[in-house]
Amino acid sequence: MNKKADTIKVLVVEDSKVTMKVLCNYLGRMGIVPLTAENGAIAIDIYHREQPDIILLDAQLPDIDGFDVALKIRALEKPEDWTAIIFLTSMSNDEDLARGIEVGGDDYLMKPISEVVLKAKIRAMHRLVEMQRSLVSVTQKLNEANVKLQRLSATDGLTGISNRRMYDELAIREWRRCERMNKPLALVMIDVDHFKLFNDKYGHQTGDECLKKVAEQVGRAAPRATDLAARYGGEEFVLVLGETDTDGAKWIANRLRQQVSELNIPHYATDSRHVTISCGVASVIPDDTCTLETLLKSADHALYKAKKSGRDQVGTGLYGEVE
Ligand code: GH3
Ligand code: MG
Ligand code: MG
Ligand code: MG
Repeated sequence: MNKKADTIKVLVVEDSKVTMKVLCNYLGRMGIVPLTAENGAIAIDIYHREQPDIILLDAQLPDIDGFDVALKIRALEKPEDWTAIIFLTSMSNDEDLARGIEVGGDDYLMKPISEVVLKAKIRAMHRLVEMQRSLVSVTQKLNEANVKLQRLSATDGLTGISNRRMYDELAIREWRRCERMNKPLALVMIDVDHFKLFNDKYGHQTGDECLKKVAEQVGRAAPRATDLAARYGGEEFVLVLGETDTDGAKWIANRLRQQVSELNIPHYATDSRHVTISCGVASVIPDDTCTLETLLKSADHALYKAKKSGRDQVGTGLYGEVE
């Protein structure tokens, strides 16, 4: 046996004391001290507690037969802790051998057991156990990387809230959901006031810090599971509010405007002398006569009106009012 032999746990399930002794001797010479069980119930109990890597399982046992033990173990085991099962059988009937494989056995050994064959089979199974272990570890790493990747591809790097890609994906889903429910969908477009002047005066890095703080408030403004807050681009954000009409969205936008204002980030160029936002709100009950794109343009136009009327306010627009 190779040097990894001591890292595997072998369980021998055998009611014949003589066979058990022979097997323990053979395994001992391979550097393996096996766990032992003289019947099926004990075997299942040990399996529970010890999670062996390989089970040498006598097909004929005094209580539960070996086939049922294998079935029980296969039902108990999680996909990530596969145990190799080798049936020990004196039956030369091919159908019984086939049955052993069918109930979850991986291989079989004929009694009387040859030390050479046992050694070869333990080696082969050990190799499979090792492969399974590294597969599990690679799969785990792959899953973790996937979760991370998914999070990265969904969030905006600077602010940590959802990005434009998420808007594109989720807004249309929410649009369709509202269409099915015959409920209004509202969009709020948000734009930081005089942000170019802010950057010019305080520097791009301070500008980034400011965007992070504003984004945090934007993220909090849409707390329902179906709501979405996303960075649309640059210093512009968007809220997608399902089952919300213009009045409801206007209320949310105004509260957000207030909260951003209360951050009290100094800005020399605004009327209030601190950072403010302007918002544009539009809503519609989706049906096949209207589109999400037009709703977005309508919210954008409402934002334009808010800017034109002096900034730090919420503009509202009708669906389709785009210029
Ligand atoms: P208005 O009140 O009309 O919106 O004026 P504004 O200056 O905010 O509008 P404008 O679109 O002219 O400028 C937006 C600025 O936002 C310009 C750009 O440098 C800045 N900006 C966009 N993205 C970022 C960013 O990620 N970080 C920083 N610091 N600034 C950004
Ligand atoms: Mg037996
Ligand atoms: Mg802008
Ligand atoms: Mg702006």
